[in-house]
Amino acid sequence: MEEFPTVGEVLTLKSELAALEELQALDMETFDNRKELQQIPENLEAMRTDVARVGELLERERDRLNEAEQWRLAREREISVQTDLLKKSKAKLQASRSEKEMKAAQREIDTIKKTISDGEEEALKVLQAIEQYRSAIDEHTKEFAELETHLAASEKEAEERMVELKGQIAKTDGRRQEIAGRISAKTLRLYERIHKRLGMAIVEAAEGKCTGCNLEILAQRYIELQKGQKLIQCTNCFRILVFKGQPQVNGVGHDDA
Ligand SMILES: [Zn+2]
Repeated sequence: MEEFPTVGEVLTLKSELAALEELQALDMETFDNRKELQQIPENLEAMRTDVARVGELLERERDRLNEAEQWRLAREREISVQTDLLKKSKAKLQASRSEKEMKAAQREIDTIKKTISDGEEEALKVLQAIEQYRSAIDEHTKEFAELETHLAASEKEAEERMVELKGQIAKTDGRRQEIAGRISAKTLRLYERIHKRLGMAIVEAAEGKCTGCNLEILAQRYIELQKGQKLIQCTNCFRILVFKGQPQVNGVGHDDA
């Protein structure tokens, strides 16, 4: 039931809080590194998805072009068949011996000519579509190649960055253990609990406020904090508080009586 802490205890708390701040700086550093390390594969995956999507689009465009070319060939074959038929009908017209035969041959010729002209019109439309497909494919092929180049460069860059980050994280392991060794198990547990939830677990108290949540600290608590005799947490956010200014224990508005 020691009411007044010994000089030794005050020094211990001071060095413990200093160690906690050091630990937190390190944890915040690895926090960012770990976050980045996690982010890199996710970013690459998103890029791969984009590249694959353009690749699929290109495939579909090539299929469509293929179809259009088949269609155009079919129209051309049809026109050539009709052209042969036209020759035969013309011969029939020449050989016709009656007006009836002549009219029948002429009707055949008219029908065939119409079929040929319709077929040619269609073939022209298909040809225009083919031109459009080709130019779209050219454009997307170029875009796809650029994306693939960019992805390959990003993958290489990401790999290097990940090695670097892993190295940095591993490098802090030893230092973290060393710092943690200067903090009591109880305080370390408290710190880790708050850090996990809020990130910054130890914050400065200034002008009577907790800089973590910006809430006013009760006068009595603030005085205790300035005395530096025991570990003080913010009553609102529960962060561990440190005081770095000039203690004004006997100052105005802080009557300790
Ligand atoms: Zn607070």
